[in-house]
Amino acid sequence: MIPMVDLKTQYHTLKPEIDQAVLDAIESCQFILGPNVTSFEQETAAYLGAKHAISCASGTDALHLAILAAGIKAGDEVITTPFTFIATAEAICYAGATPVFVDIDPETFNIDPALIEAAITPRTKAVIPVHLFGQPADMAPIKALCLKHRLLLIEDCAQSFGASISGEMTGTLGALGCFSFFPSKNLGCYGDGGLVTCATNELAEQIKVLRNHGSRIRYHHSVIGFNSRLDDIQAAILRVKLRKIDQFNSGRRRVAHLYSELLGDMVSVPHEDGTGVHVYHQYTVLTERRDVIMAKLAEKQISSAVYYPIPLHKQDVFAAAYADTVLPVAEDVASRCMSLPVYPEMSEESVRLVAQTIREALVG
Ligand SMILES: *Cc1c(COP(=O)(O)O)cnc(C)c1O
Repeated sequence: MIPMVDLKTQYHTLKPEIDQAVLDAIESCQFILGPNVTSFEQETAAYLGAKHAISCASGTDALHLAILAAGIKAGDEVITTPFTFIATAEAICYAGATPVFVDIDPETFNIDPALIEAAITPRTKAVIPVHLFGQPADMAPIKALCLKHRLLLIEDCAQSFGASISGEMTGTLGALGCFSFFPSKNLGCYGDGGLVTCATNELAEQIKVLRNHGSRIRYHHSVIGFNSRLDDIQAAILRVKLRKIDQFNSGRRRVAHLYSELLGDMVSVPHEDGTGVHVYHQYTVLTERRDVIMAKLAEKQISSAVYYPIPLHKQDVFAAAYADTVLPVAEDVASRCMSLPVYPEMSEESVRLVAQTIREALVG
């Protein structure tokens, strides 16, 4: 049996450290905005090279808080990709703004910078690229466009913790970076968690206030905020895992590179352009014969998944409003993509078994 991710094996390798960290956090009884939260934020800011890192309750909340801190409101438009998890667009809608979907690059599956300018209107306030599957979006042209048109650049880094481009970490390339610590993410906790990075004291202050009931001083409330804090216990777990993140990500890259070597003649394998470091949150291929491959893998108890089967403009929630939106690349990729098991602890033997099973599915 080969799962998509193997959280149990990872827990067992880290068990002594994680158990101790959790017990210490419980013993301290500082459960909300406690010492592990402060330390984790400082350690994450240092790791990423970000001026500020402010934790919150989830990746979705990180996007929501970042969008509010950026001043995005009803009537505004925000440009993003249609080929992502729904949360990217949900957070735009929470603020009353409208997502404007721009088609993706067929090789990286990330927003296509060449198509952004045509989507800018007087209402556009921000661009949210997603570093999908752990592959950094093509940030240089996106940054240039944001500068030219005075748009805020907010990165969705939920799948890209530790990925970099030209030596800079994702989450430090725009005004705000949004991370998720959902258990299966590259840096995952044991529940929900998220974090926002930013470069200015003003934005950091606003996010801190918004995540804690609009309050700077206890029982003094300046704005309507939220209850969106990372638990101290989760922060304690994340501090242990943060120390191993480079090792985890290089394990994922090792698995991915072996897959690409073994599968390159059968399916379209992920493209790495050389400037970015892809951290393979997912290993996603394109094939005309997805159903045949997935059935064969299932027969051998090997997991596989389709991320994502329906681009956002085709989802029930958006379909009516976006009836005139045609995004041929996202629609084509959604019809042919499939993701294979990838996790840091995956053995070479398992990778070879997956590849061999795909070969059997395709050539019989
Ligand atoms: C996981 C994810 C989110 C949301 O994160 P949660 O912590 O689950 O709320 C947002 N955007 C993308 C691209 C994601 O993969």
